[in-house]
Amino acid sequence: MIVGKRKPFDEIKDSLKGYKKILNVGCGTCVAVCLVGGEKEVEVINAELDMAFRLNNEDIAVDGITIERQCDREYLELLDDKVKNYDALLTMACGAGVQFLAERFPEIPVFPAVDTTFIGVNQGVGWYEERCRSCSSCVLGMTGGICPVTMCAKGLYNGPCGGTNKGSCEIDKDQPCAWHMIYERLAKQGRLDIIKEFKPAQNWENQIPRTVIQPGYTKS
Ligand code: SF4
Ligand code: SF4
Repeated sequence: MIVGKRKPFDEIKDSLKGYKKILNVGCGTCVAVCLVGGEKEVEVINAELDMAFRLNNEDIAVDGITIERQCDREYLELLDDKVKNYDALLTMACGAGVQFLAERFPEIPVFPAVDTTFIGVNQGVGWYEERCRSCSSCVLGMTGGICPVTMCAKGLYNGPCGGTNKGSCEIDKDQPCAWHMIYERLAKQGRLDIIKEFKPAQNWENQIPRTVIQPGYTKS
């Protein structure tokens, strides 16, 4: 899932300066699962904003709504009639959701309340770890399911580097060496021979913005 963290409260509040009627739009998918931008978090931040505005004697109203996904037109449509009643939108979606929301309502200023951080996994309640940097050229099949881009400090597709030391990365002895882990995993699977196979370096150029059209959905 996409993992994010809430922006500092003052940054959010300051971004809304000058607006009187604000709609805070939550997103019910990734950011809800990682406890940063779903219905509950919308309620919490709206209560905090409401209190801060009252303490400052500022006449600003903040309403909230959470849709299933902000990165999907089907759900953004549900806001079409609603947003015209507001002069600014706050959004708790990831960066993709923020942009899609802003694109759908270009006449209304949109402000993010969340810093999109990484694609990761849930290690425990409220504990998330990065696992993928969406490099567009996944090598997990050759690395025993361990991502060298994310887990190796140098993002090496071919490793280890000369800094690996008894299972630790040269940047920090408490940081496991990704390529040591890859070695161990492949050894366990009896597939160590593939560690020597050269993986071409990723071409990081010409990647932005990237597009994926799933087979069967291309327009002729
Ligand atoms: S190699 Fe790593 S960064 Fe690239 S797609 Fe696979 S998991 Fe993601
Ligand atoms: S020691 Fe291992 S994890 Fe650290 S940079 Fe080198 S190959 Fe990557």
